[in-house]
Amino acid sequence: MARCPECHAKLVMSPNFALWDHFFCTECEAELEVVDLDPLELEVVHDVSNEEEEEEDLEDLEEEEEEVLDWEDEEEW
Ligand SMILES: [Zn+2]
Repeated sequence: MARCPECHAKLVMSPNFALWDHFFCTECEAELEVVDLDPLELEVVHDVSNEEEEEEDLEDLEEEEEEVLDWEDEEEW
């Protein structure tokens, strides 16, 4: 059982993950990388310089979250 190094949530991983695979924690949405297989070790991927492709995805996610939060705020107040 893998655990997210960021929030320590239990992670359900695909059984065919490989070394250096990237995936996202379902709890905190941190991007994780498989840095070792035996024993399994995961590391949070921090921002790196080649961010052209991945930054778009992250921005989309952030925008969606903000929209949801704004909408909820309007409903509450
Ligand atoms: Zn996490």
